[in-house]
Formats: sequence, C-alpha cells, structure tokens
Amino acid sequence: MKAADYVASSPLPDEDRTPSPVGAAAHVVIVGAGFGGLACAKALGGGPHRVTVIDRRNYHLFVPLLYQVATAALSPADIAAPIRRVLARYRNVDTVLGEVLGVDRVVRRVRLKDGGHLPYDVLILATGSMYNYFGQDAWAEFAPGVKTIDNARAIRARLLRAFEAAEIEADPERRRRLLTTVVIGGGPTGVEMAGAVAELARFTLAKDFHRIDSKTARVILIEAAPKLLTAFPETLSQYALEALGKLGVEVRLNTKVENIEAGVVVAGGERIEAEAIVWGAGIRAAAGADWLGIAPDRLGRIAVASDLSAPGQDRVYVLGDLARLEQDGEVLPALAQVASQQGLHLGHALKRLDAAALKAGPLTLAPFRYASRGDTAVIGRSSAVFVIGRWSLKRGLAWVLWGLIHIYLLIGFDRRLSVAMQWMWRYLTTEGGARLID
Ligand SMILES: Cc1cc2nc3c(=O)[nH]c(=O)nc-3n(C[C@H](O)[C@H](O)[C@H](O)COP(=O)(O)OP(=O)(O)OC[C@H]3O[C@@H](n4cnc5c(N)ncnc54)[C@H](O)[C@@H]3O)c2cc1C
Repeated sequence: MKAADYVASSPLPDEDRTPSPVGAAAHVVIVGAGFGGLACAKALGGGPHRVTVIDRRNYHLFVPLLYQVATAALSPADIAAPIRRVLARYRNVDTVLGEVLGVDRVVRRVRLKDGGHLPYDVLILATGSMYNYFGQDAWAEFAPGVKTIDNARAIRARLLRAFEAAEIEADPERRRRLLTTVVIGGGPTGVEMAGAVAELARFTLAKDFHRIDSKTARVILIEAAPKLLTAFPETLSQYALEALGKLGVEVRLNTKVENIEAGVVVAGGERIEAEAIVWGAGIRAAAGADWLGIAPDRLGRIAVASDLSAPGQDRVYVLGDLARLEQDGEVLPALAQVASQQGLHLGHALKRLDAAALKAGPLTLAPFRYASRGDTAVIGRSSAVFVIGRWSLKRGLAWVLWGLIHIYLLIGFDRRLSVAMQWMWRYLTTEGGARLID
C-alpha cells in the first residue's frame, strides 16, 4: 500500500499522525480477505479506485477443505494462498497484514491493533464467522471446530496421537476411549468430518499399526435434528445416513449435547468418553456489527439492504457470513459461493462509479441476487451428495462433481494441480497425506 495512507502507530503525538491527503482516486478499504473480500478486491482490480485489503492473516484460507487437513489428507499449504500473491497483479490493490479493532465512523477510518489507522471513502466489511457454542463458550476448549489452520492441525495431532497412544495401551477400556472420536453437528461439516475420520481409521491407518486394529475405532456423529444434512432433500439425507453407516460411523439423531468436558460428551443422557471431540454444529458472525454501532441478529449478523449496504451508514457495505440478507423470503446461507458472488457484485458496482461519487456519497447500487451453483457434501471416498434446484445426485458421480468444483475453486493453479493429484493418488491407493503430529 502507499505509505501515505497507512498511519502507523508511532511515538509521534496524535496531531502529527493525521492521515495524508488521499489524492484524486477514491479509497476503498476491504476488511477480510476471505471469499467475499477477495472476490470484491479482484473485481475492483484494474479499476480507477485505490483499494486496500486488510486481513489479520497473510493468506486466504479455503475453509471448505479444512477438514481434510484435520484428517491428515491435505497439508495446510494446499488450501492456503498468500493474499499478497493473489492480488499482486492488480496495481491499484494493496494488501495490509493487520487486525482491525474498530471503525471511527465520523472521521471515516479503521483502527488497527498495532495502533495504526487507515482512512476510507468506502468501507467493506467481510470478516466472516466463527463457531457458535450456543452460549456454552467453555466447550470450545474441549471440542474445537474446524475453522482455522491452527484448529485443524490441533485436531489432526489429537487424532493421530490417540492412535499412537492406543498402540501401547494395555488397558482395553482406556484403549477404547483413545480410539473414540465424537463429531457434533450433522450438517455438511460434521458429515464430512465424521466420514473422513472413519476413512482414516478404516483404510489409511489400517496397515500401519501392529497391536491395535484401527478399524475398530469408533466415530460417533451427534445431531439434534431428526435427520442429517437438513438443508438437503430427504433422499440425500437418507443416503448420507446409510453411507456413513457403511463406514462404521454411529449416527445419533434427535440427540442434544448436554455437556462437554475434557474427553467427555454428555448427549441424550449418555456419557461418551472420547479422546477427540470435534464441533461442527453452528456458526455466528465475526466482529463487525459492534464497530458500526448496529444491533446484530441473534447470530451476530448485520441485516443489509439488497445492495449490501449496512443500515444507517454512509458508504459502508457488508459481505459474506457477516451479512444477513433475505432473498425470496429466505435468509441466504453462510456459504463461500454466497460470499464470492456478493464480493463480485459489489466490486463491479463500485468499479463502474467515478471517484467523485465514491468520495461524496450517498451511493445507489444495483441490488444483489444470489444464484446457487449447487450445494454439495462429501461423505467419503467416491460418496457424496449434490443438489441444485430440483435436480439432485448422489454416490460416485456426485463425488466427482464435488472434486471438480473444489479443484476449480482452489485459487492458484499449483494448488489445484497438487490437490487433484493427491486426491487421485488417495483414491487409487487409500494412502493418506500429511500425517504429521506437530
Ligand atoms: C468446515 C467448513 C466447511 C465449509 N464448507 C463449505 C462448502 O463446502 N461450500 C461452501 O460454499 N461453503 C462452505 N463453508 C462456508 C464458507 O467457508 C463460508 O461461508 C465463507 O468462508 C464465508 O466467506 P467470508 O468472506 O464471509 O468469510 P471468511 O472466508 O471466513 O473470511 C473472513 C476473513 O476475514 C479475516 N478477518 C476476520 N476478522 C478480522 C479482523 N478483525 N481484522 C482483519 N481481518 C479479519 C479473516 O482472517 C478471514 O481471512 C464451510 C465452512 C466451514 C467452517
């Protein structure tokens, strides 16, 4: 970014740290380089405005494949791309590594954790979401969700360590506990995670241990609703249930989690001892509403207008999991494809306007409309479900479609190729990927 814009924390007194003149071009600041923020920055790339993308991580994370890192199929680097590299070809887009702590709305600037600040003409918030423990935040320590690379690596280490410990454990009860994994939440994340852990135990690790039979490992999937994959048609929910059953996953439907402690889940009145507990039961929006002084909905989201503008704010827009937008009477789901489409729409709409409009406001932008490209969840090797409109698909063909979509969406050609080759290798050999305990 241009040094003139970013005002770093420094020993200078406050009056010497006022923003430099912004110049002729309008300045668009995007907070968050996830699916929404990155798509928006790319759409604005090559346009007339100066754009600054701020993220607390230096990489864009392909969250939908994180569970494959957690189950030792992929390495973190396979699903993370440096933001700076992705945006390098756009000369008008700068990248800042930093955590935003708030927004000074009157003087129109964002505040960063390092004490610096950044002035904006147009602000776009795309900070995403985090796991929702429904008021039981203490459970997070014992049942991490798959949302960051750190979480995924910690789960991977816990799973692999459990097999190592079981191999040298003489006591059958303790061995059984070590070889038990509980996954909470029967949505796509929970289904994918449970299937992947079962495959790890049944195929990948099966030949590598001499004392234990890794195939006896238990994977228990707990869901409060009466069916899995509630957003999918009944036939696909039923198929997912059967496919998980074939992998040996014990699915407990209509079962509410009552408590979680270290190594113990209490659900439906039963106490289950498990070495690894993984949370995949719901999300809530990340920070953003509080920065704007807006009352969020019960999931922390900001209810935006159809053009993605934040209510009562001048030239402030919200994208992705942080936004709550109704379309045809339904709230749009928290999906990468929703976030990306919103980012593209907003970026193109802003790009068409001139600097004077962006600097003066208020703006009138075209309404956003989401077009689903299909929902998919993978259950295991050559087993998945896919639905688009009234058309649905399951088994191997859905799995191939799922793989093609995810490979296509992975940013950076090198990643696509390496992930495709690893999947192909695993499909043919059932060999695992990055089985590292770190
Ligand atoms: C396990 C899992 C599997 C999923 N699978 C699918 C799937 O198969 N298909 C699908 O469509 N969707 C899937 N999703 C949902 C999808 O990942 C999200 O909907 C999508 O990531 C939302 O995009 P976003 O841009 O809103 O936020 P994110 O992609 O989460 O990006 C938010 C960005 O903001 C940054 N940030 C946050 N706070 C700050 C701050 N204060 N300062 C600076 N930077 C900040 C973060 O570092 C991050 O880079 C899955 C989600 C999970 C958790």
